[in-house]
Amino acid sequence: MSQIVCDNLVKIYKVADLEVVALQGLDLVVDAGELIAIVGASGSGKSTLQNILGGLDTPTAGRAEVAGFDLTGLGTRERTNYRRRVVGFIWQQTARNLFPYLSAAENVELPLVLDGLGSRTRRARSRELLGLVGMSDRAAHRPDQLSGGEQQRVAIAIALANRPKVLLADEPTGELDSESAEEIFAAFRAINETLGVTVMVLTHDPLVSTQVNRTIAIRDGRTSTETLRRAEVDAAGERRIIAEEFALLDRVGRLQLPSEYVDALELERRVRLALEPDHVGVWPDRPRPRRRPETGDGEEGERG
Ligand code: ADP
Ligand code: MG
Repeated sequence: MSQIVCDNLVKIYKVADLEVVALQGLDLVVDAGELIAIVGASGSGKSTLQNILGGLDTPTAGRAEVAGFDLTGLGTRERTNYRRRVVGFIWQQTARNLFPYLSAAENVELPLVLDGLGSRTRRARSRELLGLVGMSDRAAHRPDQLSGGEQQRVAIAIALANRPKVLLADEPTGELDSESAEEIFAAFRAINETLGVTVMVLTHDPLVSTQVNRTIAIRDGRTSTETLRRAEVDAAGERRIIAEEFALLDRVGRLQLPSEYVDALELERRVRLALEPDHVGVWPDRPRPRRRPETGDGEEGERG
């Protein structure tokens, strides 16, 4: 079942009489229970996407749906309900996620206090969540007694207190060293597997593709490629992680060629296509050189 659907999503910011196109026809489908990463350079539209999916901002055009909520047409009350119950957030600035004078456990319980839940329920919930993110032994610590990575793991527990269906994290490891970052991803995997919550991490770090099963690259406000990670057992019986990159095909069959491919063959404006039994060939729109007999040097081919 798809839980996040973006269909031709467009976001244009108007600043004075200037228009900035932050998202230009972004398509995305995420199934319930997935743990995915959106990766893109600074300015590619990640935070804009997070703000729209989090119900903090509205798109200029297109459709965005999360857990059955149509984010283009939410009323004020529905929007508040959506933000409190359906999505959880983690921000890059660790300090923005926690209240400084409360312990880790109190931070996790706070949203439940606001919901009027009894103290026993609150304590059980906070214990469960802090356990899942590996912070049981730090429950009584205040944020200033925790490292940045530990604070972010508490932030994950806080964001899950109200049992959201979807967790959105914008550059959650941006201020952390690589070891703490690995712990954050271990926490994301744990809560994803145990609670079944859908997790979307937005980051500029391409290495994220080794941490999650599916990584979607965005470029200029549009999804461009997708990397799938899977475990494979090689000939020697060793288990290795393979990350394979795919190009994306949109609903009407449009495909973006990687710029390296376009440059390498000097493709311009038009290409020749050929349908083969199991693949599609793409050639430059130039007269095709006559095939040389396969004897010449430098040609790839079978050799004796
Ligand atoms: P990322 O998070 O990937 O760095 P953003 O979504 O923050 O990208 O920004 C995408 C583009 O939109 C950038 O060109 C940025 O300058 C512009 N932008 C983002 N927020 C605003 C805003 N509130 N007003 C005007 N332009 C904005
Ligand atoms: Mg950003």
